[in-house]
Amino acid sequence: MKADSYIDFRSDTVTKPCKKMLETISLEGIGDDVFGDDEITRNLEKKAANIFGFEKALFVPSGTAGNLISLMAHCQRGDEYLVGESAHMYRFEGGNGAMIGGVQPQPVPFNKFGTIDFELLKSYIKPDDPHFSNTKLLCLENTFNGYPLPSSFINEAVSFAKSNDLLIHMDGARIFNAMVKEKVDSKEYLEGFNSIMFCLSKGLGAPIGSMICGTNEFVFKARRLRKALGGGMRQTGIVASQGIYALDHNIERLKEDHDLTRYMAENLVAKVNGIKIDLDYVKTNMIFMTHNKNDSEEFSNKLKERGILIVPGNPIRLVIHKGISKNLVDETVKAISEYFSA
Ligand SMILES: *Cc1c(COP(=O)(O)O)cnc(C)c1O
Repeated sequence: MKADSYIDFRSDTVTKPCKKMLETISLEGIGDDVFGDDEITRNLEKKAANIFGFEKALFVPSGTAGNLISLMAHCQRGDEYLVGESAHMYRFEGGNGAMIGGVQPQPVPFNKFGTIDFELLKSYIKPDDPHFSNTKLLCLENTFNGYPLPSSFINEAVSFAKSNDLLIHMDGARIFNAMVKEKVDSKEYLEGFNSIMFCLSKGLGAPIGSMICGTNEFVFKARRLRKALGGGMRQTGIVASQGIYALDHNIERLKEDHDLTRYMAENLVAKVNGIKIDLDYVKTNMIFMTHNKNDSEEFSNKLKERGILIVPGNPIRLVIHKGISKNLVDETVKAISEYFSA
């Protein structure tokens, strides 16, 4: 079976550019971005910064690169960053802060919805004493497992950072899912943040790339770090034009993914015996489904035979994106239901 004939719930990173997005590729304005010659990339950066009201933005190869560059722009070797113990920046980025940046993570417990207890957080900040690392940066994640952080929590986190002399970074890989769901003003939602990273290559449907946004000074440092880490790329307009298309056309449509996700979750709960889904947790484009099977590999293989891809586990995470339609959801619910009643 060809890769693109599968119904793919593994992630929203599997989206492919639509025809119109591909048609934005043109040689007009293309240049060597390391020399600063690529006008299309400049335009993408201006657009990204403008959406959030930041001074400047920088195109980076991936979300992981963007988070690492931000971390290293904010922290010196021997500093530490406060990060959720279940956050992407702690668990899923190869330990890059410590490995490459010499910045130590201080994991803190996230509540179920990606929020943090501020009194507890305060207790993790180290005193200014030679025994301790210098606690420099607080990192949040939005959406967290598909859950959007409420504005009230975000505002409180910004005040907390300010009053405790911390910088604050948002790992906003799926920030637009959160913003569409919460119906917030994009310039107000992240006011007070020192930096934010978001991905073009997830629900927004672009093939490659992420953006980091911050002050002019932050981006100046970030540009040097991007080069040092091997992430300075040349004719980036080839992909930047698709990023511009994604920002112009694919933000509002995320609501369709969210509606379809809820539809799928409700149908799974109604039609399948042997699974559990906390519907209160289904807010944007992810479903976490626990099940009563011991062998999730076998479950995943059986679905694959029917043309459906999932990452095995328990719970199983199902991610909805623009490559998934209502018909494909119905077909999948039927396949899952048959597997569980066999
Ligand atoms: C996907 C993701 C990243 C990393 O993005 P890549 O482009 O895969 O490197 C970072 N943080 C979160 C929350 C993510 O979901």
